[in-house]
Amino acid sequence: MRAIDMHTTMAHPTRALAEADRLMVICNSCRYCEGLCAVFPAMERRNLFKDGDLNFLANLCHGCGACYADCQFSPPHEFDVNVPRTLARVRGESYQTYAWPGALSGLFARNGLAISLIAAFSVAAFLLGFFIWADPSVLTGTHVGPGAFYRLMPHNVMALLFGGVFVYAILALTMSMRAFWRDIAGNTPAGGIGAFLQAVKDAGSLRYLDGGGAGCMNDDDKPTDRRKHYHHATFYGFLLCLASTTVATLYHYFLGREAPYPWWDLPVVFGTLGGIGLIVGPVGLLVAKFKRAPELLDETKSGMDVAFIVMLLLTSVTGLALLVLRATPAMGVLLAVHLGVVFALFLTMPYGKFVHGLFRFLALVQHARESRGDH
Ligand code: SF4
Ligand code: SF4
Repeated sequence: MRAIDMHTTMAHPTRALAEADRLMVICNSCRYCEGLCAVFPAMERRNLFKDGDLNFLANLCHGCGACYADCQFSPPHEFDVNVPRTLARVRGESYQTYAWPGALSGLFARNGLAISLIAAFSVAAFLLGFFIWADPSVLTGTHVGPGAFYRLMPHNVMALLFGGVFVYAILALTMSMRAFWRDIAGNTPAGGIGAFLQAVKDAGSLRYLDGGGAGCMNDDDKPTDRRKHYHHATFYGFLLCLASTTVATLYHYFLGREAPYPWWDLPVVFGTLGGIGLIVGPVGLLVAKFKRAPELLDETKSGMDVAFIVMLLLTSVTGLALLVLRATPAMGVLLAVHLGVVFALFLTMPYGKFVHGLFRFLALVQHARESRGDH
């Protein structure tokens, strides 16, 4: 700890932040990696690294691993420079630091276990609810046509439960993002709509997940764009599923049309394409995760990564199973399982890996604002 104290620009509350400060001092002198991603140009604008600066840089890092592969000071060199792993550790801590309400930030500590328990409890609660409140003949019966789902759970109850958990997730995520933004934005001039649009473009194309052009590093030292493609499938699959739910809600309230809808209708088309994206993406990410060079990863956050990927996968698999089997006696149980998984997904969104997309987007906005000030 003494060596770390000697080479930081200021005191920090955690070992990960102190180590990130130490590395940024070394990298700021070296600057060999400045063309690889946004982290190094952002670092070069700073001489001191406050906690907010380090949290900003950590969330700007996409973890491609290129700077580790290129670094002449990486282990076994005595400087022991490992930027991807150190920033991954700071990133993981930052989710907990800015969580809202603070009393629930502990859910990040043993995240895999916490999310598994919440998901299991949620699915069990929906199954139990269906068994208690629905007539057994209704639960195991075959229901087709508009309003079929609502014979198992009244629409108003469904809307209240999911509307409530959705509003809570939005509130908690907004408060976390607000706290993070206050810490990273400082006195930077606004940057206008241009900075925001630049960040949308950089996030939508995952510009900095390309290792400076070569791709992400793996354990076989052969960089590829696999993680980028699987991230895209996951992200756009998720957006399509959201679009499906939004259109279905509009149908229900404005056109008086009740679910389930025929296979050619927009909610089903969006949901099916989104569901496929949410199978291909998460499965690919899971496989890619186990092929990554272990020295790049924050091993303490593996549970959080896997839990989020599995939750997305369960959402899509149960949703597609419900679509295929909705006109069979299996529909009742499948509906309970799917609703239980989706409810848990929303409930745990502010306390899991989902946060990384939002923090990274804010970091990209801040980077775009600072870049504009450079010209
Ligand atoms: S990661 Fe290594 S090579 Fe890259 S800037 Fe830092 S010290 Fe230099
Ligand atoms: S791991 Fe990739 S994104 Fe992160 S700092 Fe290194 S080069 Fe940049």
